[in-house]
Amino acid sequence: MANNEHIMSTYASASVTFESGKGAVLTDTNGKEYLDALSGIAVCGLGHAHPAVAKAISEQANKLLHTSNLYQIKNQQLLADKLCEHSGLDRVFFSNSGAEANEAAIKLARLYGHKKNIDVPTIIVMENSFHGRTMATLTATGSRKVQAGFEPLVQGFVRAPYNDIEAVKNIAKNNSNIVAVMVEPVQGESGVRIPDADYLNKLRELCDQKDWLLILDEIQTGMGRTGEWFAFQHNKIKPDVMTLAKALGNGVPIGACLATEKAASVMKPGNHGSTFGGNPLACAAGLAVINTMESEQLVNKARDMGAYLLNALQKELSHVEGVRDVRGLGLMLGIELKQPCTELFSQALEQGLLIAIQSETIIRLLPPLILSKEQADTIVQKITLLVTNLLQQKAA
Ligand SMILES: *Cc1c(COP(=O)(O)O)cnc(C)c1O
Repeated sequence: MANNEHIMSTYASASVTFESGKGAVLTDTNGKEYLDALSGIAVCGLGHAHPAVAKAISEQANKLLHTSNLYQIKNQQLLADKLCEHSGLDRVFFSNSGAEANEAAIKLARLYGHKKNIDVPTIIVMENSFHGRTMATLTATGSRKVQAGFEPLVQGFVRAPYNDIEAVKNIAKNNSNIVAVMVEPVQGESGVRIPDADYLNKLRELCDQKDWLLILDEIQTGMGRTGEWFAFQHNKIKPDVMTLAKALGNGVPIGACLATEKAASVMKPGNHGSTFGGNPLACAAGLAVINTMESEQLVNKARDMGAYLLNALQKELSHVEGVRDVRGLGLMLGIELKQPCTELFSQALEQGLLIAIQSETIIRLLPPLILSKEQADTIVQKITLLVTNLLQQKAA
């Protein structure tokens, strides 16, 4: 029997092992089925074992896996074309993860600053943000839990409260080293925190005034998750830089840092790189994901199913004593309780439902974009029961 004996203990994993999946359903090694309302943390947007992705990967594996970026890679060019078409941005750097995509964005911002003769280029980042686990990205992350024990942290970041444009303006007054603002359109890891509808517009305006780069971390919100291809499209603005990963490969590791021509032009050969980044296999997966999202209209489906799910959850839970808030944007949903509810993770698993708990009190749902209405109803039914049972127990 396999066990964790030789696995470095960075995760307190549940004891379940999944063996296969189909769409939004997973099957464990005992044959028990689960409804996946988490999608491997916003990764498997097309669900599990999607035939188009499986076909693209296996066909590519039979042709060519890897050649390095020392040579042209056709799939990489095709995927970059698609990403630029849907985002309105101009250039793409491919990485293997979200943290690496953010590293590229941070390095780009520093080059941009040095080009303007700013010696200590500094990026404004937000409280409660999450940007990854590498040294620079954990420094950018607004969580002491993520940083503790890894000091010394990286220089060149200052922090502002999220959804507070005045705080960012105040930093601007006192700090002439600022080169960029890096922000999630909706904060995912800290519990689906949705800012005011015009927050990104105000940041865009300020960045324009100051000639700062607006860097959007869309690693979780991108690829249709919020009911637009990218969350910034709700605001009808365009960032200078945007990072993607998670759902881009539907489970094949791939990340991307996109930029406008102006921002990207600071990058020259030799400035940055990645051995694996954008290899033929990963880009074949990315292309299959985008082609499927287009042909199956998954962005519209995410918007509609998200609205349906939010409405149904609000109907069941908003009025319940002990529930602070039920919120969502597309298929990124949060149910915030007035008390800790970490035990709901394993209770839901027991009931055949995969969910996540963030910041101890917030249930986070990230179901696949292919979720059916019946599956959405099942999620609502199970969550309602779990939450009301928990609140009754605690009240008793
Ligand atoms: C998951 C996530 C990351 C980190 O991505 P990894 O692939 O785990 O490095 C960064 N930013 C956001 C917003 C994320 O959700």
